[in-house]
Amino acid sequence: MNNFSRRKFIAKVGLATSLLSLSSYKSSANIPQEKKLGVALVGLGYYSEHLLAPALQETQHCYLAGIVTGSPEKADRWKKLYNIPDKNIYDYKTFDRIADNKTIDIIYVVLPNSMHREFVIRAAKAGKHVICEKPMALSVKEGQDMIDACKNAGVKLSIGYRLHFEPFTQEVMRIGQKQIFGKVKIVESSMGFRMGNPDQWRLKKAMAGGGAMMDVGIYAIQGARYSTGEEPVYVTAQEFKTDPVKFKEVDETILGQMEFPSGAVSNSHTTYASSIERLFVSAENGWLELRPAFSYGPIAGKTSEGMLDFPHVNHQARQMDDFADCVLNNRESSVNGEEGVKDLKVIEAIYKAIATGGRVRV
Ligand code: NAD
Repeated sequence: MNNFSRRKFIAKVGLATSLLSLSSYKSSANIPQEKKLGVALVGLGYYSEHLLAPALQETQHCYLAGIVTGSPEKADRWKKLYNIPDKNIYDYKTFDRIADNKTIDIIYVVLPNSMHREFVIRAAKAGKHVICEKPMALSVKEGQDMIDACKNAGVKLSIGYRLHFEPFTQEVMRIGQKQIFGKVKIVESSMGFRMGNPDQWRLKKAMAGGGAMMDVGIYAIQGARYSTGEEPVYVTAQEFKTDPVKFKEVDETILGQMEFPSGAVSNSHTTYASSIERLFVSAENGWLELRPAFSYGPIAGKTSEGMLDFPHVNHQARQMDDFADCVLNNRESSVNGEEGVKDLKVIEAIYKAIATGGRVRV
């Protein structure tokens, strides 16, 4: 931290408090399994295999208790790798029998987007608490159905918004929402990557619901929403396509603007054409930037007053531990179904703004 006084900076942005709370985040090694909640992963694709299952080895309050997969080969491999008993292994047809399994407390839906609604509702009917991956659903209507099903069943629902439990992101929320640098005026938030395999479900409208916007555009929307702490009132948006064959069914690149009640405005890119990842927040008396801002980390950031310095944490472990704590202490998740629906409302307004070429009220 060059000429800038680190002590002054810590006092100003509250780094000390955040580090203190992080130091209480210990390894789960000494906590017996009986005291933890059992999680069953539904869909053993990339995210489950490479991020969630390893993260479950680091959680304090939950553990990988079961799996739901359509592949006997994966069932066998996971069973050996994670020591999962046969009675905790289901396929998509036998899934509903999970209702009778007392060792599974939480069902985590990690399927293609179009399957989220069905499996969250089936999980709720089985009497299990549910985590559903983002985007929560293909539409606001579907998202609301999922919220209603969980409420009717008396189970908790949360969405896989892992960044809400990540310290750089939490600092952005604090600085923006508490107006540490004055009122937020402008947000630039962008997220995209270069899409490879042209045959995957992410490029099929019926399964994905949309393209880059549904998949990673949601991070750009989230970034603007959590740095202002406000819900957008109006959106405008423009779509661009350079590969109409690959992106025949879904959007490749979208540029969108949001207007917030305080007068703050945001501008975002989301794309499947190239890599982009940044959150820049400009307030009356200062600015902050995270880059990278939304991927699995390490996240890095600075402000007009100096570098941000937080330890790297396992986003997914913290997210799942927070949900387990919600279940154990009957607390509502900060990333509940309503939070998921808020993003879907913005996404629907963005697609409408593209279709009409106008400024759309959210
Ligand atoms: P993936 O394609 O790697 O895995 C999807 C899984 O669903 C596979 O195991 C596949 O066999 C199974 N599946 C069952 N029925 C299917 C069908 N009819 N068609 C295709 N697959 C079917 O996808 P992923 O990257 O693991 O993503 C899964 C979900 O997780 C998506 O909703 C995605 O947006 C979300 N995700 C979230 C994050 C995050 O950081 N929060 C990161 C990656 C993915």
